[in-house]
Amino acid sequence: MGGAGRRQRVAKEIPRRGTAQLHRSRRQRGVVIIDIVVCVKQVPLTGEVEVDPDTGNLMREGVQSQTNPYDLFALEAAIALKERDGGRVTALSMGPPQAEAAVREALWMGADNGILLADREFAGADTLATSFTLAQAIRRLRYQLVLCGMQTTDGDTAQVGPELAEFLDIPHASYAREIRCTDAGQVEAVLDMGGDEQVVEIDLPCLLTVTADLNQPRLPSFRRKLETAGNDIPTWGRADLEEEGEPGHFGLEGSPTRVREIFPPESETEQVTWTGDPARMGACLARTLRELRFL
Ligand SMILES: Cc1cc2nc3c(=O)[nH]c(=O)nc-3n(C[C@H](O)[C@H](O)[C@H](O)COP(=O)(O)OP(=O)(O)OC[C@H]3O[C@@H](n4cnc5c(N)ncnc54)[C@H](O)[C@@H]3O)c2cc1C
Repeated sequence: MGGAGRRQRVAKEIPRRGTAQLHRSRRQRGVVIIDIVVCVKQVPLTGEVEVDPDTGNLMREGVQSQTNPYDLFALEAAIALKERDGGRVTALSMGPPQAEAAVREALWMGADNGILLADREFAGADTLATSFTLAQAIRRLRYQLVLCGMQTTDGDTAQVGPELAEFLDIPHASYAREIRCTDAGQVEAVLDMGGDEQVVEIDLPCLLTVTADLNQPRLPSFRRKLETAGNDIPTWGRADLEEEGEPGHFGLEGSPTRVREIFPPESETEQVTWTGDPARMGACLARTLRELRFL
């Protein structure tokens, strides 16, 4: 949060929808035990991935990958909630078979189980098709809280979290920098609104996207690597997911948007490089700073 930030408590009654009734008995008992799904995406390790000029797709072949860094904050939050209040954490990823590594890393951090959504029919998905596919998988799971990173470091749209919540028909809030489950069957979250903070209470089940201020993600542990070495990561394909309404919601077919062109924005900043001995470079710098009225 910026220094000028204000914290405001918002009496934000977000209506409970969907499957909130699921845990009324737990709520009545005042016990907080929740099942949490964390969405993790595998992204390229480098920012220098090339784009296919014909298709507009990222050319990921031969590029090293990592778990989207923001998703690690979501995972840490989920595991910490589980350690404090109980419950189960499931890591869910959609991607090619090698995205299993992101799910396995989640297990090494402390997730209880993981699922990979991989199928040729999922390829070429825009954010809508990605959210739809994730939602269809989550419908098959028991959950009260879904956590996503606030954005990825490759697609970078920050659309998947809110879209996913809409498909699941549950309330959501973005940019959570603090999360707490209350005994009243709600999540209290502090949202980073740029200049302000907003404190919201949301009925479970709900979805939150999280910022990098939320916590310090733990490293994958060697003990967990040994414990989970024999764990299978189930792979679900198109045939495992139900589809609502008209067919054609997955992958390229289910993607109403196409990337026409990708290009870096033109820099409007003039760059000057001085070379030579330090005294000359110092003089150039001082002259420029005077011209710009910094001195
Ligand atoms: C118009 C358009 C067309 C595209 N076409 C293609 C294409 O043809 N081929 C292609 O490879 N890509 C394509 N993409 C990229 C693809 O849509 C994105 O990889 C995907 O939709 C996720 O969007 P994002 O990376 O912006 O995620 P964001 O919305 O920034 O991610 C927010 C959070 O959602 C969750 N999340 C996002 N994606 C996943 C996932 N796959 N699994 C689990 N959790 C996830 C994570 O928690 C993440 O932190 C396209 C994107 C757009 C906008």
